[in-house]
Parts: sequence; C-alpha cells; structure tokens
Amino acid sequence: MITLGVCKRCKYAWKPRGEKPKICPNCKSRYWNIKKKKLVCSSCGHKWIQKGKKKPKCCPNCCSGNWENNEVSDLKKMTKRIESFTKTGEWLD
Ligand SMILES: [Zn+2]
Ligand SMILES: [Zn+2]
Repeated sequence: MITLGVCKRCKYAWKPRGEKPKICPNCKSRYWNIKKKKLVCSSCGHKWIQKGKKKPKCCPNCCSGNWENNEVSDLKKMTKRIESFTKTGEWLD
C-alpha cells in the first residue's frame, strides 16, 4: 500500500520514497506533517508559530508559563467583533 504524503502547510501531495519523509518536497517544510498553529502569549502579546507537536511550556518572548490563557480571551474578542459586525455592519479594530 502506498500512502501519499500530504503537506499540511502547502497541501502538496506526493509519493514518498522512504517511509517517513523528512521534508515536504514542495515547500521544504520539516513540519509538513504538523498543522501550523498560531500561538499568542497572554502576558506580552507575542505571536509565534508552534514548531513542534508539543505546546511550548512558556512564551519564547517573555518566558511566561501562563501564556496560553489568551486563546480564550481571543475567542471572546472575536465573538464580540462578530456581534458588533452583525449589529453595525462594521468591523471593530
Ligand atoms: Zn509543503
Ligand atoms: Zn510572552
């Protein structure tokens, strides 16, 4: 059985020669098998892209171990934006 490699970054599909391709032949990403994840630090607002499979323990900018809380507040912000958009027809900044 041949399993096609599909890059989660650029959606490129190819036939891998080895069992586990190290990089995507199209975008050369070593993390082609891992979905790109945007992370935001709740302490300093630093944004970065998760590189490994595991979530980082602390923010690479301010070293806060509590950086993750932002996901929730971001969602709340987004909900507020959508709410106001449906009311006013304009996007808040
Ligand atoms: Zn790719
Ligand atoms: Zn931070």
